[in-house]
Amino acid sequence: MGIWNLRKIISAFEELKIAEAREAENLSGWVWEEIMEFSPGAELNLTQDQEKRITNILFRISTGEPIQYIAGHAWFYGMKLKVTPDVLIPRPETEELVAWIIEDIKSSPQREIRILDIGTGSGCIPIALKMHLKDSASVFGIDVSQPALDIARYNVQAYKLDIKLSQQDFLTDGIFELGLFDVIVSNPPYVSRDFDEAGSINQLRFEPSLALYPSGGDPDVFYKKIANTCKSYLVPGGSCYLEMNEFRADQIQNYFRNGEWKRHEIREDLQGAERMLKVKS
Ligand code: GLN
Repeated sequence: MGIWNLRKIISAFEELKIAEAREAENLSGWVWEEIMEFSPGAELNLTQDQEKRITNILFRISTGEPIQYIAGHAWFYGMKLKVTPDVLIPRPETEELVAWIIEDIKSSPQREIRILDIGTGSGCIPIALKMHLKDSASVFGIDVSQPALDIARYNVQAYKLDIKLSQQDFLTDGIFELGLFDVIVSNPPYVSRDFDEAGSINQLRFEPSLALYPSGGDPDVFYKKIANTCKSYLVPGGSCYLEMNEFRADQIQNYFRNGEWKRHEIREDLQGAERMLKVKS
């Protein structure tokens, strides 16, 4: 009722105890600007339908549903990508992994290189890489989930990029018919249901299990498979960049030690967690 503005949404978040302070401001920005598509300074007399829509969005947020699923998009590396509950919402730490790869490739320009992303989800990693590396890279993405690949394909087309996507079950079949790569990157499922290490399982309940929890109870199954097999998909001197479970960074690195990979390098994310691993074949 009455005049609505961004401030009123922030107050609603606080009064309903859904969020406060910065979090309330951030979510309100999403609701007001990204979903309702109003300008930040607008003062509006909303229709009943618009009010109902806002109330419904607030309710959905109060249940813990991620704002990106409600909006239908997420931001990654400055790009707006479609997301649905079939794909993991791209995370800032994955942007850091992408930044590392771009930095390395740009600092040693070479012939056109080939890059593969295992478990591509929304396509965020290959899309960000292709946007920045342009013709200097051929980029491929695989995923076991066809619904996820449909979203990735939508995003690739939205940005008019040439990225090859295919449905492959890496754990069962490895990588087939794609040739050799200079870079393999992956943000595989790495959350452990048994330990709930970060106490975050409840927060993750809207996101696809397939993208979060490795199948079959071994939380490191993807890292072991990558450590044991990916050398054969890399050119000599090729690199693997992996997002890691911060609580198992040492163990994960060990799989690569045992597999005699060279030049292990771990990087922390902005939260100070050991999140990224780079190894060379
Ligand atoms: N970083 C995600 C989280 O913990 C997990 C992503 C993944 O399993 N690859 O919320």
